[in-house]
Amino acid sequence: MKSAVYLDYNATAPLRPEAREAILAALKTPLNASSIHSFGRAGRKTLEEARAKVAALVGAAPSQVIFNSGATEGNNTVLKYFSNERILVSAIEHPSVLESAPRAEKIPVTEDGIIDLDALEKILTSPPTLPSPQGGEGYGGLTSVSETSRSWVGGKPQTLLSVMLANNETGAIQPIEKISEIAKRHGIFFHCDAAQAASKIAIDMTGIDFLTLSAHKIGGPQGAGALVMGLCGITPTLIDGGGQEKKARAGTENVAAIAGFGAAAEAARRDLAQEAKRQEGLRSLLESELCKLNNSIIVHSKAAPRLPNTSMFSIPGAKAETLLMAFDLEGIALSNGSACSSGTVRASHVLKAMGCNDDLASSALRVSMGWDTTEGDIEKFLETFKKINARLNK
Ligand code: PMP
Repeated sequence: MKSAVYLDYNATAPLRPEAREAILAALKTPLNASSIHSFGRAGRKTLEEARAKVAALVGAAPSQVIFNSGATEGNNTVLKYFSNERILVSAIEHPSVLESAPRAEKIPVTEDGIIDLDALEKILTSPPTLPSPQGGEGYGGLTSVSETSRSWVGGKPQTLLSVMLANNETGAIQPIEKISEIAKRHGIFFHCDAAQAASKIAIDMTGIDFLTLSAHKIGGPQGAGALVMGLCGITPTLIDGGGQEKKARAGTENVAAIAGFGAAAEAARRDLAQEAKRQEGLRSLLESELCKLNNSIIVHSKAAPRLPNTSMFSIPGAKAETLLMAFDLEGIALSNGSACSSGTVRASHVLKAMGCNDDLASSALRVSMGWDTTEGDIEKFLETFKKINARLNK
């Protein structure tokens, strides 16, 4: 019998039993996958099995997967590699994208939190709005880029577009097929942060040059992740100093964590369709009951395609921090947006980009579910909400 109710899967998901088992098994022996001896070979086998499972989750070949420490590293790796080039990012990206590319041009989103495709087309046909980092003409140019088919198309600077597959706060799913078609038409590179989408919706790498994944968002351990390469022929690197991961990411691989990542990816893939349906049902129940209990509630991105596990809503006039504490006292763990920006009073940049005013942005709560969430958890949340809501109306 579970005591507390955990509804903050988008911050980190509980470890799946399959992942725990794989981690414990790998921790039993010293496994350095680069060693020649039998222990090393066992480590290599564990690593390659996990690679195949992670690749299968996103429809890629195992050779496309480079293991790293998580999505923050993956995003830094790609964005910093292109730091001398023109970079476009959506206004609702995770801070690990936004802060890795402080000079990036921002693409606006609609009030439903979906990237504005017309604005993207317009930006791509306009000259860059920011000066080159060197202060000279144009952009720096990447040495390895010149070897690819997409080098300096029509004499234009190299460009990277970074748009997440699904937003961590609202769950809004971006029209990735259309975005990758636009990227292809303009001859630019396309990076997609799929840290939140993985294990919640099916992922197809077609048209994506670099895809970011994180183990702990899918029921694996913290401290493992992957950058999955598309077919553009470029392998961005951030960490040098060893031959691991085909020289793309130096440092002894965290074999146990990666084994857990692989096991979580396999379990998530197996259950994906039925879990999506089940969690969408739980979310419908949650949102319809919430709106009955308080008809001023606004559910964000409701009209957009959303991850089945995520619901972000504002309770006008309330303060999210106060509500979070009240829920926590009742044993219910929620979030007021991205975990990375919670703890600060700054309103969500995602909701701001969607045009929400300060009141709506500072009264937003996020419920995010996952593989271990039950209908009983949602009922307990609703009962508690009823109590807290009654206090709000006094
Ligand atoms: N991107 C997105 C969309 C995320 O939600 C997160 C985690 N909040 C990250 C990147 C960073 O992931 P990690 O914790 O693996 O560094």
